[in-house]
Amino acid sequence: MEEKTNGLRDQQIRRRRINRMKMSIVAFGAVWILILTISTIVLLMKIIFLEDRMDKIAESVISVEQFVENQNQKNAGSPEGKIPDTVSDNTMPDSQEAQTDGNAAKTDHIIPEEERRKVYLTFDDGPSENTARILDILKEHNVKATFFVTGNEEETAKELYRRIVDEGHTLGMHSFTHKYDVIYQSLDAYIEDMTHLQSYLEEVTGVTTNFIRFPGGSSNHVSNVDMHELIRYVNEQGFTYFDWNVASGDATSQVYTPDELVQNVINDVVKYDTSVVLMHDSSAKGTTVEALAPMIDQLQEMGAELLPIDETTKPVQHITADNVE
Ligand SMILES: [Zn+2]
Repeated sequence: MEEKTNGLRDQQIRRRRINRMKMSIVAFGAVWILILTISTIVLLMKIIFLEDRMDKIAESVISVEQFVENQNQKNAGSPEGKIPDTVSDNTMPDSQEAQTDGNAAKTDHIIPEEERRKVYLTFDDGPSENTARILDILKEHNVKATFFVTGNEEETAKELYRRIVDEGHTLGMHSFTHKYDVIYQSLDAYIEDMTHLQSYLEEVTGVTTNFIRFPGGSSNHVSNVDMHELIRYVNEQGFTYFDWNVASGDATSQVYTPDELVQNVINDVVKYDTSVVLMHDSSAKGTTVEALAPMIDQLQEMGAELLPIDETTKPVQHITADNVE
């Protein structure tokens, strides 16, 4: 009897042990499955992340290659490689550019005249000791400008008026005396001064000019006469007056270096399709002469067209002539 009960207890113990072993095998398997599942998920995420990174790297490699290729084409296409990208982009789409060789691109890169920025260099107050140097620099660069001159009856001055005309520049009138307290005293005083200058220039150069620049500009605050009265008179005479929208700064109380004068001009020229640049031709303005060659170079590198004022020039006026009846 006792043996029977012992045998039963042994059986129960064995069964429990087997059950425990089964449970631990199941638990072990479950843990393994869990670990494998988590590992697989982590690995899959890593693969997706790496693929994404590879795509991005590939994209950036392609864009760097395209950039280098475009730069090479642009350098080959623009004269001396100096026309800025913004200008050359307007003239030719990249796809078209890519089909042209270096030589063809060079001619195709010339910007149509109507799209080029127009810049009128103007010099007030001459002739002076610097006029000949200014004319020399303009000639070297094959650039025409405009001179708003004053009256000077010396022989050397007469030569300079003639040189201005002979070398293709525009002769404009500033004032004979350039004395504000005389010319702006009354309408009659202004008329007398301008009539005197016009007939004097006719006599010396044979040219009758109708282009004028008021001393101090049409917006000056020194005139005793209402400027609208003077504008009415010049309109009646068929004169066209030009103020300026770009000042080199060569007549301000601040003394600029030649580099700064160039920078002043470039900074403003970029704002306009048509720029009338104010400079001075006077013996005291040596920095203007020094600034001239680098200024011309930089303007031409920008693709600007440097022109003398003529009948087709859009007037730049501080007080608009059309508003004065
Ligand atoms: Zn002046």
